[in-house]
Amino acid sequence: MQLYNIPESLQAFLFDMDGTLYTNPAYMQFQIRSLIERLARLRGSSFEVMHGAITAYQETWAQTHSGQSLSLGNTFVHFGISIAESIRWREELYEPGAYLKADPKLWETLNRLGAAHALVVVTNNPVLVARKTLAALGVGDLFQWIIGLDTCLVSKPHAAPFLKAAALCHVSPSACVSVGDRYEMDIALPLALGMGGILVDGVADVYQLGHEESISA
Ligand SMILES: [Mg+2]
Repeated sequence: MQLYNIPESLQAFLFDMDGTLYTNPAYMQFQIRSLIERLARLRGSSFEVMHGAITAYQETWAQTHSGQSLSLGNTFVHFGISIAESIRWREELYEPGAYLKADPKLWETLNRLGAAHALVVVTNNPVLVARKTLAALGVGDLFQWIIGLDTCLVSKPHAAPFLKAAALCHVSPSACVSVGDRYEMDIALPLALGMGGILVDGVADVYQLGHEESISA
């Protein structure tokens, strides 16, 4: 776990969802694979060919953008699939309940953090998928807001979802911390907006946040 610029008067936690609130490589792989398979079918191509094309495009993009990562949603826009279409596909394809189960330790952690802070999910998945994911994890009752791909119609890393989260909580960005498993998607931009950042390896790191000393500024 890596801490960046933790605010002294921390009021809101903005949590990434996938890879942060749960650790499940099989489900993460399914999410990427099922979208690429669908795109391949639509284009009359194979998964392997489409996967190769997408990887090549993302690598070229990173090389021309100082090594930054391009989200799958933004990559699909280049391949002719709008964000609105990506939202529909994800809603149709993803069933988090098939992979995830209730996590009492996560509930306990979030319940403790939520006693003194606003809790928000900021995810590149649609709100419907986020609701199902949080329900499967048994923590749906602990978040005040869910900002999904369909809330601002832009994919992280983009300022809009993070600023929307702060605005909904009625706090300034400098009172927020963004928690996520990918530096480029979840941490770099929030830091530029004046927020703090916590880079985690997975949900096991999130459990540590329930202990006050782990995040003292
Ligand atoms: Mg993530």
